[in-house]
Amino acid sequence: MKRREAVKKLAIGVPAGLAFPGLLAACEKTQVTPTPVYDGNVIVIGAGAAGLYTAQQFLRQNIEVKVLEATDRYGGRVRLQKEFFDFPMEMGADRIIGDTNLWYDMVQNSGINVVEFPETQRLELDNLIKDPADLSNDIDYLSAMAFISDIVNYNGPDLTIENAVFSANLPSRVHHLVEGMTATGRGTSFNNISIKGVSDGLQAWQDGSGRYLAENQALVNIMGGAFSDVIPYVQLNTPVTQVNYTDLNKIVLTDANGETHECTILIVTVPIPIIKNGDIVFTPELPITNTAALDRIGMDAGYKVMLGFYVNFWGKDIGTIYTNGTAREYYAPGIGRDKENRILAALIMGDKAEALAGKTEDEIVQLLLSELDALYDGEASQQFDESSTYVMDWGANPYFKGVKSYPMVSGTGAAKQYATPVDNRIFFAGEATALNGNYGTVQGAIESAERVVKEVLEVIL
Ligand SMILES: Cc1cc2nc3c(=O)[nH]c(=O)nc-3n(C[C@H](O)[C@H](O)[C@H](O)COP(=O)(O)OP(=O)(O)OC[C@H]3O[C@@H](n4cnc5c(N)ncnc54)[C@H](O)[C@@H]3O)c2cc1C
Repeated sequence: MKRREAVKKLAIGVPAGLAFPGLLAACEKTQVTPTPVYDGNVIVIGAGAAGLYTAQQFLRQNIEVKVLEATDRYGGRVRLQKEFFDFPMEMGADRIIGDTNLWYDMVQNSGINVVEFPETQRLELDNLIKDPADLSNDIDYLSAMAFISDIVNYNGPDLTIENAVFSANLPSRVHHLVEGMTATGRGTSFNNISIKGVSDGLQAWQDGSGRYLAENQALVNIMGGAFSDVIPYVQLNTPVTQVNYTDLNKIVLTDANGETHECTILIVTVPIPIIKNGDIVFTPELPITNTAALDRIGMDAGYKVMLGFYVNFWGKDIGTIYTNGTAREYYAPGIGRDKENRILAALIMGDKAEALAGKTEDEIVQLLLSELDALYDGEASQQFDESSTYVMDWGANPYFKGVKSYPMVSGTGAAKQYATPVDNRIFFAGEATALNGNYGTVQGAIESAERVVKEVLEVIL
């Protein structure tokens, strides 16, 4: 089913006048229904894409809603770094993945141009940087690429991608390429992620093809425009610490400032480590059905490091570089945003991120520079521009504790299980609960919000 058909279908079954028309309503302001349709109220925990979209849909149904956000900004893992760079620098999501999904439409509807992220690559093989075009006779490289493109058809046992690579007898000189192309972008390393989970996700994918960057505009500003009606209902600097739902008539939330908030319907959109670590204490405890599922969904520590250079030495037309180093993937975030294209974004995920525990930001930057120097004849250190460099450690942030969710071995069905409503009063959204293979994306977060609004409307109407 195409995305737009799916959006239309969602409205079916909702009583006339209450149909929520999906994303287009989010961008073209619709009239607010004059009479309240529900005399209870909704609280949403988390002002990322999922939380904002959820709240907007309720607001537009004239249902009382409030969003409690732990940090001092909305957007969640869509996060702008204003300083240090002469163009909007995204420290979280930046590439819009696919062109038939709600997030792509939202960016388009904002009037901002999108530029296609180039498929041009360089890759490290045998300690040298290579152009894939020169590897057409390299059997190991070709086997690795065939392995990756065949993941979508995988029907063997549920293994990590690393173990599947061993089973396929791929030579070790290309393992890092498989890891960089299958796991790093999903926020982990290949010893953690399930090949079956990735395969299922690829099969379920309906979000279109291509990767895009918004030209000269920060994604969080696009969100600010699309969600302008809901921003006044977001209460920042309000980390929720407790949820008490013992009373059948109300749910009582306590925040870290000692304030309490009451609601009849609660939507939880926080990243899954927050729930896994018990950072929000539920009374009574959440059912084991929900929490046990979290053991089968991964979300690892990870760094996005922006490395600035005075001159682009890797090639202005190159989109991505896959290496055998600490950052399995580097890409050029300045495409469409910076004429000089002189920044490289290093993605350090999973076990590579864990291995950096205890290192200072400066040590991490120096490590990356030395690894790039080995591939580019010392150019990285020579061209390094410290003033345009920034290290974002997502694992260390107390309200995220990781990068993005991914399927672990035996993870089939875990997202749905975690997202099972509790008592028909507590509902779960957020990218980890996206059910169409688009976990770990902005559109997955938005789509999970659509699902949760539908679930709530079915209950309260
Ligand atoms: C480095 C990186 C790169 C990425 N790249 C891409 C990409 O290129 N393309 C793409 O589509 N996606 C990408 N993603 C993933 C994408 O950013 C997320 O999937 C999406 O933004 C998640 O939205 P969400 O609403 O589910 O969660 P979040 O955006 O995480 O929102 C959850 C909110 O809950 C808040 N919160 C946490 N605890 C509490 C509490 N106790 N009380 C109140 N509030 C709380 C958090 O502060 C946060 O604002 C990337 C993510 C990262 C980190």
